[in-house]
Amino acid sequence: MNLRDEEILRELKLYPLWVRRDLPVEASRMGGGAADTHQESPAVAELVSGAVEAQQTAMGIASLNPSCSWLELKQKVRDCTACQLRAGCTQTVFGVGDEKAEWLFVGEGPGADEDARGEPFVGQAGKLLDNMLAAIKLKRGANVYIANIVKCRPPDNRNPEADEIAACLPYLQQQIALIKPKLIVALGKVAATSLLGRDATLGSLRGTVHDFHGTPLIVTYHPAYLLRSPAEKAKAWQDLCFAVQQMK
Ligand code: SF4
Repeated sequence: MNLRDEEILRELKLYPLWVRRDLPVEASRMGGGAADTHQESPAVAELVSGAVEAQQTAMGIASLNPSCSWLELKQKVRDCTACQLRAGCTQTVFGVGDEKAEWLFVGEGPGADEDARGEPFVGQAGKLLDNMLAAIKLKRGANVYIANIVKCRPPDNRNPEADEIAACLPYLQQQIALIKPKLIVALGKVAATSLLGRDATLGSLRGTVHDFHGTPLIVTYHPAYLLRSPAEKAKAWQDLCFAVQQMK
């Protein structure tokens, strides 16, 4: 291990290096049931799942052309007023990175820094995400794309509501269709349950390869949660190792 690797792992508070003794799935189960940063109504995922189709139809979002180009999609998002979040944010935050990336990281929604800069994960949580990427030899923009479930900042950093997620999710689905990633990493419970369309604890979703319309999806903690609960960084490291294993 070189000095840079040591620095990264120290930043993640994972040094000396944690060594897995079990298979990742089994190991991750040991962590079990921890809650995510954000308190979410248990009904959100079900509401999202049920509401997506009706919401899309009502708002005309389902009319997204399956062959929609990046340019068209970016323009649609920039001009979107399909839910109430647009009225309270500075700008939409589309996503950033390599548009042909094998790795897609999906968070919940923009915070204050992201709203100001127009880029996802640029605050303290973004720095931690960059360090998490570096720990597995990845970096923002190089074979990595980063996006959120909702493109507009929820007020006071609240969780997005089910109807807001339902309104915005087709944009992410279209991004995924364009990127065609080999693996989706859902960061936090809101991202995971929104993409999977069902409610579950984050702990129960970790350590398993889920399916998102044919694309493997794994779940780990949101970096903002890890900033508040640094003891959980070891579990996030387990998840990253698990993710790397899926890409081999
Ligand atoms: S959050 Fe998504 S659906 Fe709502 S206004 Fe912004 S871009 Fe449109």
